Amino acid sequence: YPAVPPSLLANLNPEQLAAVTLPPEPALILAGAGSGKTRVLTTRIAWLLQTGQVGPGGLMAVTFTNKAAKEMVTRLSTMLPYNVRGMWIGTFHGLCNRFLRAHWKIANLPQTFQILDSGDTLSAVKRVIKALKLDEERFVPKQMTWAIAGAKEEGKRPHDLPQHDGQARTLVEIYQAYEDQCQREGVVDFAELMLRSYELLRDHPEIREHYQRRFQHILVDEFQDTNRLQYLWLKMLAGPPDGAHSAALFAVGDDDQSIYAFRGAQVGNMSDFEREYRVRHLIKLERNYRSFGNILDSANALIAHNSRRLGKNLHTEAGPGEPIRVYEATSDYAEAQWLLDEAQQLHRSGTARSEVAVLYRSNAQSRVIESALFNAGVPYRVYGGLRFFERAEIKHALAYLRLIENPNDDTSFLRVVNFPARGIGARSVEQLQDAARSSGRSLNQSVGAVGGAAGAKLASFQRLIDDLRERTRGATLREIIERMLDASGLVTFYRTEKEGQDRIENLEELVTAAEAFVTQEGFGKDVIALPVDETAPGTIAAPLPGEPEAVARVDLLPDAETGEILSPLAAFLTHAALEAGDNQAQAGQDAVQLMTVHAAKGLEFDAVFITGLEEGLFPHENSLTSVSAQGADGLEEERRLMYVAITRARQRLYLSFSQTRMLHGQTRYHIKSRFIEELPETALKWISPKNQGFGSGFETSYQQAWQRGSGMGSMVGAGRHAGWSPPPAPPPSWAAPVPAAMRQAAAKDNGHGLRQGQSVFHNKFGEGVILTLEGSGTDARAQVNFGRHGAKWLALSVAKLTPIE
Ligand code: ATP
Ligand code: MG
Repeated sequence: YPAVPPSLLANLNPEQLAAVTLPPEPALILAGAGSGKTRVLTTRIAWLLQTGQVGPGGLMAVTFTNKAAKEMVTRLSTMLPYNVRGMWIGTFHGLCNRFLRAHWKIANLPQTFQILDSGDTLSAVKRVIKALKLDEERFVPKQMTWAIAGAKEEGKRPHDLPQHDGQARTLVEIYQAYEDQCQREGVVDFAELMLRSYELLRDHPEIREHYQRRFQHILVDEFQDTNRLQYLWLKMLAGPPDGAHSAALFAVGDDDQSIYAFRGAQVGNMSDFEREYRVRHLIKLERNYRSFGNILDSANALIAHNSRRLGKNLHTEAGPGEPIRVYEATSDYAEAQWLLDEAQQLHRSGTARSEVAVLYRSNAQSRVIESALFNAGVPYRVYGGLRFFERAEIKHALAYLRLIENPNDDTSFLRVVNFPARGIGARSVEQLQDAARSSGRSLNQSVGAVGGAAGAKLASFQRLIDDLRERTRGATLREIIERMLDASGLVTFYRTEKEGQDRIENLEELVTAAEAFVTQEGFGKDVIALPVDETAPGTIAAPLPGEPEAVARVDLLPDAETGEILSPLAAFLTHAALEAGDNQAQAGQDAVQLMTVHAAKGLEFDAVFITGLEEGLFPHENSLTSVSAQGADGLEEERRLMYVAITRARQRLYLSFSQTRMLHGQTRYHIKSRFIEELPETALKWISPKNQGFGSGFETSYQQAWQRGSGMGSMVGAGRHAGWSPPPAPPPSWAAPVPAAMRQAAAKDNGHGLRQGQSVFHNKFGEGVILTLEGSGTDARAQVNFGRHGAKWLALSVAKLTPIE
């Protein structure tokens, strides 16, 4: 081959070099994390191009995520003297989309075909079920959607499915009608992108041969996570093993990092590939270039607990490096605080924020961490998932809460008037919007102007919100949210969705967020953080120079004139709106990286935190009982996930777990994950919680009991039951809030001579009735229903309330 720039191959070890420069034949690179698989694949592309063995149009490379594809293109453009953007490098879905765009006519699609996301797909299936006049109870739309996607991923069309009984025949009928509808409307779902590309190649020899001749090299990263149809598609493009024009399939993978078995990925594709293509070049890479010894030893020791492995080991020449720091926190807040401190320490000692990754098993865990970073003004970015308050289900829930506060909030009204679906179609909504426009009133106020069945449905939505408002008057924030989740139908709706479990967890997490806002963190902390302007009671001074703007988030202080305080709900909504705002790091800004372990696949960072290492969380409780259809052992898949997590770290690894955690609206006691026990003790260093003389993680049960008794016991009770307790002064941010019984006692003697149910007069809001009394002395407050003005919380030390007899 012609000479290539020496730098291209200079830094490869002999096995890597062999892999990069293999002849154009089927090859499988099977190697552990950080051994340079992706680097080999990328370098091979550059080498093939540089040596003129293939032109940029003659090869295709597939990776798993958009982020990985982008990184590959970026790396290649630094290695090659020309523009690589037009090359066929991308994800499976991305490349299939491109393929169908090129052959839309033969694929029998309109040139401008649209892609349905999962939400769109569900509503399309619903319409089909309705059109077929089928019972949604028996043919649950969500389940039908999975069945259809599952069939497509196995390469099956309606006529390929069994029709052994009535139920099966109806499924086939739905699938067929759904296909017809999509075809009529010119849309394709995700699975259709793959399947149609595959079929097009299968059924059109001239196109198939064209591509087989065109692509001389096909390279696949993360091969262990491909599913059946993806493998079939690759085979179509590559051509048969002995074909005249077959492409050289170059697959790299790691069976220990197979983490998508739950979605039908098949590690078996590796052995099938090896057998079917009679792979002669099977290369193992055993040297890890990413991590220091302690990190690698831990990864090796952990994965050795799995039984089904192809078997390989990793070593490094980097030396042991820092020990892995393990922290046992007393609460998830303490865990987040510790993480924040360590991350700040790393930053001060020169580690870029973007080189710090915080990993967690499920999305719901990010909230507490986001909160800690947010409050400290540390920029962060959340990958593979939205920031908590921006997630669709949370926005839906917040929209209901906003309507409770303000029924005339049209944005919220539109967001949830037909979500979950209550048969209010786009036409009815348009009619309502017209009526509102012409009368200049809100949508809610215009409901009466819409007649007929549509009007009745709108009115019933309006009643739903009104009822919620009535029934939650005087309730704690937690009760309000719980009732809303129930009455709105949101939880019921997500229960029927395939990926709904995660959303339900997030909704439950909203309860936790509210609880935390009210009792532990939010109220107390905000009051501490806010510099109160002594010269003007009730107002907040501007943030101090250098202090993040966001500190002045929630106005908890009474209005100087009227004594009105934001209701807990209003305060919480403000908090949510601001947290959802633009604190998210700007593109290019140096920010701490937050993501699930799944989203971290293939990436690497100088420092990695793996949080929430608790039984039931990681390993996830669902995995402990499940042996999936593919025979994949849930626990082994969790362990592979932990292996992926550990091997993301280059220099420093931090592991943490917490004795208690507020999750899904409940405080739970947790014990540390078995995965920690599976790591070599010599590689670990236990960090004791700060304000504790002992607690090395190996404490005696006496010490544990002491910790629980002193720190957490009372907090748990408060977390479950406390209502809106007044911002204490000075607020002990971690202290247990006042128990309910004490609050009531205090309320009786609040020093203002008022009682519940009493009629009072306020010089701005007029007459009202006291619904609730809380606190005493300067903290005393009352919730008063002022009729027309609604219910308001008033600080009794400021508001002038005159009893009316
Ligand atoms: P994963 O399984 O996590 O996807 P991988 O096997 O794809 O890992 P890479 O990401 O390609 O591994 O490489 C890990 C790190 O090691 C990268 O930073 C890469 O640049 C570096 N690396 C790989 N090979 C070498 C080498 N021969 N010399 C120096 N650094 C190397
Ligand atoms: Mg890789």
